[in-house]
Amino acid sequence: MLEEMGLTPIWRLRQTAPEAQQALVSESATVPGSRIPNHESRITDSSDRRSEIMSLDWGPLKARVASCTDCPLHAKRNKTVFGVGDENADWLFVGEGPGADEDAQGEPFVGQAGKLLDNMLAAISLKRGANVYIANLIKCRPPGNRNPEPREALQCEPYLHRQIELIRPKLIIALGKVAAANLLASDASVASMRGRIHQCRGIPLIVTYHPAYLLRNLPDKAKAWADLCFAVRFMKGLQISKTATI
Ligand code: URA
Repeated sequence: MLEEMGLTPIWRLRQTAPEAQQALVSESATVPGSRIPNHESRITDSSDRRSEIMSLDWGPLKARVASCTDCPLHAKRNKTVFGVGDENADWLFVGEGPGADEDAQGEPFVGQAGKLLDNMLAAISLKRGANVYIANLIKCRPPGNRNPEPREALQCEPYLHRQIELIRPKLIIALGKVAAANLLASDASVASMRGRIHQCRGIPLIVTYHPAYLLRNLPDKAKAWADLCFAVRFMKGLQISKTATI
């Protein structure tokens, strides 16, 4: 599996003690990089719309996304891509938005980048759907796979926020710059955000490279592997501190 990721020799995971775990979390208090400057170009999200979305349970939330016409992206989509996986997952992986394959199938990360993501999950003994949920920042494909515009991301944001609230994962992994920038309201680079525990809506968050980026930048797969090992150590540390307090 690690060979599939282009990662040999095999690196071993080290245990993280509860104190180290605590240190990891408190390090995150300062997130380097400037905050996105108040999104002046963003359209104002209606607080009524947001409150309505934030009140929905899974079924109505899925239906709301499937029929959403709240931003121009709906016009060219084939299928909305809500997200997939274990709704009680400890792990939430968040990508950017659907590509052509995802738009055709209505499921996130089913193309080449998805295959790599599945291999990354397997490398840390996880798999899609089992204690793992996979979602995107935006639910409709931007034409030509361009990055979502800030106003599109803003309109879609409540859907992901509601998914986060319903799942209450123990850890969010932001895949790539666009997901990280929006979840952390920071325009810092992925390189500068890696290796630390951030917080998103009260949930620990780790930033790593997007699988599609890794397909084009093979040497950075080793860094993504390091990020996954960091995430596993963090989760193990959570379990150790939970056991210690029982
Ligand atoms: N890239 C993403 O960010 N999400 C997908 O679902 C597919 C590719």
